[in-house]
Amino acid sequence: MQDVETLWADFARPIVTADDYIASLRGRRVNVFFRGERVHEPVDNPVIWPSINAMAETYRLASEQPELGGVRSEIAGIQINRFLHVPTKADDLVGKHEMQRELGRRTGTCFQRCVGLDAIGSCHSVTFDIDAERGTDYHKRFLLFLKRAQVANIVIGGAMTDPKGDRSKAPHQQADLDLFLRVVRRDKKGIYVSGAKMHQTGAVNSHWLIFMPTMRMTEADREWSVVGAVRVDTPGLTYIVGRQTNDMRAVDGGELDAGNAQFAGQESLIVFDNVFVPYEHVFMDGEWNYASTLVERFTTYHRSSYVCKTGLGDVLVGAAAEAASHNGVEAVSHIKDKLVEMTHLNETIYSSCMAAAYRSKPMASGAYLNDEMLSNVAKHNVTRFPFEIARLAQDIAGGLVVTMPSERDLRNNEIGPLIRKFLQGRSGVETVDRMRILRLIENMTIGRNAVGYLTESLHGAGSPQAQRIQIARGMRIEDKKARARMLAGVKEPARKV
Ligand code: SF4
Repeated sequence: MQDVETLWADFARPIVTADDYIASLRGRRVNVFFRGERVHEPVDNPVIWPSINAMAETYRLASEQPELGGVRSEIAGIQINRFLHVPTKADDLVGKHEMQRELGRRTGTCFQRCVGLDAIGSCHSVTFDIDAERGTDYHKRFLLFLKRAQVANIVIGGAMTDPKGDRSKAPHQQADLDLFLRVVRRDKKGIYVSGAKMHQTGAVNSHWLIFMPTMRMTEADREWSVVGAVRVDTPGLTYIVGRQTNDMRAVDGGELDAGNAQFAGQESLIVFDNVFVPYEHVFMDGEWNYASTLVERFTTYHRSSYVCKTGLGDVLVGAAAEAASHNGVEAVSHIKDKLVEMTHLNETIYSSCMAAAYRSKPMASGAYLNDEMLSNVAKHNVTRFPFEIARLAQDIAGGLVVTMPSERDLRNNEIGPLIRKFLQGRSGVETVDRMRILRLIENMTIGRNAVGYLTESLHGAGSPQAQRIQIARGMRIEDKKARARMLAGVKEPARKV
């Protein structure tokens, strides 16, 4: 058990560059497993490395385009990375979404840092509201934690989704009480939590984690209504990194077959076993009726954060156009029409996310929150449109995306020349370049980065039904019916029969 000053001692020197960030991950005693084996140094693991490199891109962007990747913080009184900023005006959310699209373009994958960012915004306002009602000091604790994080320029991960066990039962009704993260013990210095968090984006690549409840709680779920921050290497934490389609292509040798050898996402199952959290890092402890507020604010932020997928969409539209060009059909009308359709779908996602930012409103704490209806519409678009964009990319690319020989075949002295001869496209295009683009399309539509572009688009920040519930809540159907009656000359609402 360490005191708070000791916990922050390793972060005394701020992280500035991507190289600093990568160096900061080395030598930590983080309990990580992948494919049944302990990973002693994740930075050197070839399957995990592309996800670290994707996270590192958030630091590269801040160095190369400080106006996009950075912003001034009134909390720390300095210029900080935008991924650590509490939005205090609509322009902050607009800038955040522009940054997310650009990072999607640069990496073609999930760059993982937005969950922590959206946890910051949610905790800022909810701790303020709890204190105003209960006289607690959570907001002060949170501001101190955040100021330290901003100055150190660390990565904060977010951990929200509990395993949930029997979905028809509340946390306190589960056969195994650990199926939702809970407080198991208290002493004078802090709390101890046990349980797990699922699907946690970029967890191993973070420095600290903010854990939060996953859904509405009842009074009987007090011990499960807990928010706090822990270092990733806190004793009692175990990370089991998830498999991704084709992930072992990273160790196949060569880099062509990976499709995108540089960048990938990462999700882990995090197990908490009696993990100590000092009170200074506890931001909710038993205030069960604020759990739903926290979840709703987090999802409102995070559903608009899925603007990231428009950056991936830019890459996929470009890859499809490039594949068509390699085949000599870029000017054919139905190809052009498909590229227009892909762009239309991609920009529709972008417009709903940006509208949710422009229509954001301040909360009592001063933090701005995206428009709830538009944010849910934006995420609902994301659950559908990338699948159609991916289908059109495969349509344009052709079946070679899934039947193409490997890079080893290409390098083989006997069959390599045959592949170069029979997989050639229009003149002037290297066969290997044609193969690279097709592998990228494979990577994003059925390979490793389809995890982020497709299934994560479906389920991340809540599955489609979660957005439909929120849309139904906000659609004000009686008001719409009244307007229809007025224009049609109907004086009274229809009587119920
Ligand atoms: Fe960020 Fe998108 Fe990854 Fe979520 S899915 S962490 S919003 S890049």
